[in-house]
Amino acid sequence: MRKVFNGLLILALLLLGNWGFYAHRQINRLAVFTLPAPLIGFYKKHINYISEAAVNPDKRRFALPDEGPRHYIDIDHFGDSAVYTMPRYWKDAVEKYGEDTLHAYGVLPWHIAVVYYRLRDAFLIKDPQRILSLSADLGHYIADAHVPLHTTENYNGQLTGQEGIHAFWESRVPELLSAEYDFFVGKAEYISNPQLKAWEAVVASHREVDSVLLIEQRLTRQFGERKFSFETKGKQTVKVYSIDFSKAYHQALNGMVERQMRGAVKMIGDFWYSAWLDAGQPDVKELMKYQPTEAELEQRRKEVEELKQQRVKAREHDNDN
Ligand SMILES: [Zn+2]
Repeated sequence: MRKVFNGLLILALLLLGNWGFYAHRQINRLAVFTLPAPLIGFYKKHINYISEAAVNPDKRRFALPDEGPRHYIDIDHFGDSAVYTMPRYWKDAVEKYGEDTLHAYGVLPWHIAVVYYRLRDAFLIKDPQRILSLSADLGHYIADAHVPLHTTENYNGQLTGQEGIHAFWESRVPELLSAEYDFFVGKAEYISNPQLKAWEAVVASHREVDSVLLIEQRLTRQFGERKFSFETKGKQTVKVYSIDFSKAYHQALNGMVERQMRGAVKMIGDFWYSAWLDAGQPDVKELMKYQPTEAELEQRRKEVEELKQQRVKAREHDNDN
């Protein structure tokens, strides 16, 4: 019997993955409301897509081998203070550790910057569909960066006998309690360096790893058998972290899950807004009106490529002098 329940628990964990589908959707949806006019008009029009597509990157994990490492960074693999000393830019990190090693332990903060610049380019090209899919993706990765257990090798408490804590923190707790969270996070602001900002989020998350684990251990001793309960989902009975245990955890963490969710919402809004600004604030009305033809998009892609080449040349020229 125990084995069956454990099997179900593991299955549920596999299905839930990151933040849980529920939290990812909610975070992307809420981020829309941080945006200023006129940008908010475009995102509001597509808010259902933005929230539904928030889980696409997790769905891709099963099909794309490169996708997995984009969702985490096991930063402690590189040493105790690695979260502060790891080279912030991909080129420098590759020089120090090599691509294979970085892919083996996760590339989350660098991938956030990659998607950011793709989004900026989609705004430059004025391709509404691409803006939407990249905005949804970017929201997903930024949200992952706000989960402390996405920044450690001990990502599911497997090294400390706490298996299951990953989905507990990012799925069970928000699903039970986020209706009471305060999601007023203010207006989106311009981020001048998205790569460093992504690292700031990872550093802040990583600082919470010890609390996430130690507090769960303490409460486990305190709660004994009351840690788990059984819930019926459809025809199945599943073993879950009990509601009392979940509430006690939320309180003992001093609202950390809520804080991290709020941080994700704010940062996603900041990044969407900044990508639009960095692309020179393309006309939002035009974005809302119609989807350009493939030929138009091809032409704009060419123009943007040429513009980038010119910039590179100009920079080289500067260096000559
Ligand atoms: Zn993820």
